[in-house]
Amino acid sequence: MSADKLAAITQSGSFMKFCHHCGGSVLQRIPDGDEKLRYCCDSCDVIFYQNPKNIVGTLPIYENKVLLCKRAIEPRYGKWTLPAGFMENGETTLAGAVRETSEEAGARVIVRENSLYTLFNLPYINQVYLFFRAELEDLDFDPGIESLEVALFKESEIPWDEIAFPVVRSTLEYYFRDLTRKQYPVRMFDIHYDEQHRINTHLISSSH
Ligand SMILES: [Zn+2]
Repeated sequence: MSADKLAAITQSGSFMKFCHHCGGSVLQRIPDGDEKLRYCCDSCDVIFYQNPKNIVGTLPIYENKVLLCKRAIEPRYGKWTLPAGFMENGETTLAGAVRETSEEAGARVIVRENSLYTLFNLPYINQVYLFFRAELEDLDFDPGIESLEVALFKESEIPWDEIAFPVVRSTLEYYFRDLTRKQYPVRMFDIHYDEQHRINTHLISSSH
């Protein structure tokens, strides 16, 4: 993604050209009594508020192995990720994570108590990621249409150079560290781009 496009998305959430209600042109301006730029339709007086999206997924475990999916879609085609995707309206974060695991990996999981594991704030792309720990019910998994391949990896087998996203890398790194102690605190991170467009992950909160 170009720096210009990134800056535009950072400011606006996502691009919008036409009003979803009347089809008229929208303009970005700060509405009366507001402090942020919003897309406004001056034909029908609607203001479009854009807010962050939640992406929910699981860390599916079988014995001492983690299930990863090889992406069949952009971005990061061919890279490995944990099963995760956009939350749907009308569902909870955990239900969405289990659904995505079924869709992307064809896997059924058992979710125990205290399953919430990592939360990442990505303000530069207006996203929040949540991962839940889960156990594979069986080894009967199959890639869905968004995956080229689904496989189990021991820590020594993880393709660290082929991991799709920093949130996945961090979740895996913490998991294998926590596995040695058998303690899995809930952690929240903020991710930022620095001036060199490098990604920095900061641990903000940990449950113990
Ligand atoms: Zn309109």
